[in-house]
Amino acid sequence: MLEHILNWLFPERCAGCHRLTGNLFCAACRERLQPFPPFPPPPGLDGAWVAFRYEGELIRAIHQLKYGRRRRIAYALGDLLATAVGPLSADALIAVPLHRDRFRERGFNQAAEIASRLRRPGGPPLLDGLVRVRATNRQARLAASSRAANVAGAFVWVKRTPPPCRIILVDDVLTTGATLAACATALRSAGAQSVSAVALARSLIGDSVVQ
Ligand SMILES: [Zn+2]
Repeated sequence: MLEHILNWLFPERCAGCHRLTGNLFCAACRERLQPFPPFPPPPGLDGAWVAFRYEGELIRAIHQLKYGRRRRIAYALGDLLATAVGPLSADALIAVPLHRDRFRERGFNQAAEIASRLRRPGGPPLLDGLVRVRATNRQARLAASSRAANVAGAFVWVKRTPPPCRIILVDDVLTTGATLAACATALRSAGAQSVSAVALARSLIGDSVVQ
């Protein structure tokens, strides 16, 4: 109720088109989203699925989420991903972690906020335990060939108990898949059997994507 009153007094600005639509991501922007076509999983992943092309209003929304620190945009985008992906079959969801320095700088992990919207009663739980132990260079500044080396060994499973068998990693933007593959390597070496990924959007290589 309070939220309704506040939204009436101070209408929400859409993160996609910046209009005062009363919505974090308005219906017109949602309609302009283009589905991302199926593609073979990048090396190191057992499957990969992406909801939308990383363009236009989605780029603006993700930039505001990450650099404008508008955390609640993640909930609107996570709901869009949840609707697009449907029920997920796995033992657990794991969000791609941020290094603690980046986490402190931003105040939240956008992948974890998005992943929190994929939870469903009876569906796979969202687990922590995967940690980014090494701060990596921003992938956007690197050539595709350097991205895998940049993130290799950057992630570690830190719990004493092994991760569940079938895991779905969740991220906001997938580019080459090097980050997700490095997460998958860490999870497999800790005992996971299969690691797939879902992401909100995929860019073409060379787009200005940063972690
Ligand atoms: Zn809009």
